[in-house]
Amino acid sequence: MGVADTPDSTLTSEADVTCPVCGCACDDLTLTFAGDRVVDTQRACGLADPWFREQSTARPEVAELAGQAASLNDALDRAARILARADAPLVYGLSRSSTPGQRAAVLLADHLGAIVDTTASICHGPSIMAVQQIGESTCTLGEIRNRADLVIFWGCNPAVTHPRHAERYSVFSTGLLIPRGRADRTVIMIGDARHVHDWRLDSDGSLPDQVIAIPPKRDFEALTALRALIAGKPLADEARLSETLGVSVQVLADLARQMKSCRCGVVFFGLGLTETQLDTMTESSGLGHLNVENLLKLVRELNGFTRFHARRMRIQGDVTGADSVMCWQTGYPFSVSLSQGYPRYNPGEFSANEVLERGETDACLLVGTETIPFFSPAARRHLETIPSIVLDYPATVSDLIPTVKFTTAVYGLHAPGTIYRMDEVPIGLRPGANTNYPTDETILQELLKRT
Ligand code: SF4
Repeated sequence: MGVADTPDSTLTSEADVTCPVCGCACDDLTLTFAGDRVVDTQRACGLADPWFREQSTARPEVAELAGQAASLNDALDRAARILARADAPLVYGLSRSSTPGQRAAVLLADHLGAIVDTTASICHGPSIMAVQQIGESTCTLGEIRNRADLVIFWGCNPAVTHPRHAERYSVFSTGLLIPRGRADRTVIMIGDARHVHDWRLDSDGSLPDQVIAIPPKRDFEALTALRALIAGKPLADEARLSETLGVSVQVLADLARQMKSCRCGVVFFGLGLTETQLDTMTESSGLGHLNVENLLKLVRELNGFTRFHARRMRIQGDVTGADSVMCWQTGYPFSVSLSQGYPRYNPGEFSANEVLERGETDACLLVGTETIPFFSPAARRHLETIPSIVLDYPATVSDLIPTVKFTTAVYGLHAPGTIYRMDEVPIGLRPGANTNYPTDETILQELLKRT
């Protein structure tokens, strides 16, 4: 049986709602409800507004078996049998959930002796590995709003992935030492020359002060040249370097000078630097972590001259929370095997895409299917041949018809919880609508009891 719409059509509103759609976690939205449907939003960007409306309107069945409606109890029994019988279960996703759901997923994976992995492994996994090697000069987005007078976006496209980042945190916002907002900041975008025409700061099309377009996969060379210029070391062959990078050495020298002389600088970096762009995974060199290591070294060296930070532009709403929960429960942020009764961490060996590609799992529990389209064809093929259990939000559309599917309440719309903003600041969720859908946590805890 589907979940009935609430008949009450009186308009109500909920203020200070936190948006869980991207890593900005904007916490100033106002939602207007007719019954339990979102009919209007304020301050929701072009990603958030349709998302809230669709998630509150869609009414799929609570539980399905092979695409057919089923009772919740039958579906739980079937899912529990699949997991209990599996020799090598895989638990994957987590990033569209919330702390309670993530905690329950890791607990279940531990109980099953499963491999557990998050969407970080196809996203900022290389950055996490680089941070583990080099360390990170970190800061909150509040510090950027209040202090940063040089803001660099490297290998990312905030207008598309984080439409309110510029408004709220990095470009237009005023702050303690940035009283005039945009006028007090220099904003530079660096990245793949093929996408330079797309480079905007927000969905209004606001432009940076400068764009430095370099050829694809030349980030490492550009960062190395910048490090040499900042250290005052000579560059071996300037003409050849200019040809390789598609920009003159003078441009890099000017950038190095700005970096050293700013009062507070930050590099926000994205999947262009990690080379794990979700739409171009096949183009990845697999060496994106070396790019990020080079950036983190550059930022560390800049702190000999001024205050400087590097921050990841996390895309999925609570991928940062998934990292955090994984770390506090297993000691590692993603790609962890619990099959030996203790956690083993090894990206690649225990990354969901690769585990599926090699056919090393015989049952998969997916908490969110939104990143399955970015798996390799071989991984998707194997996923379709094994029993799968999916927990998805009401409006999520997926090509995969799992063995068992549960539709779950939306954290932040139907259920309270905590998400972590891209700067690791935890933010509480304020639900404004009722639902009969169970939460991820409820389903996962029930599976824990039945296995
Ligand atoms: S920028 Fe991100 S968090 Fe903010 S409203 Fe848009 S989708 Fe939501």
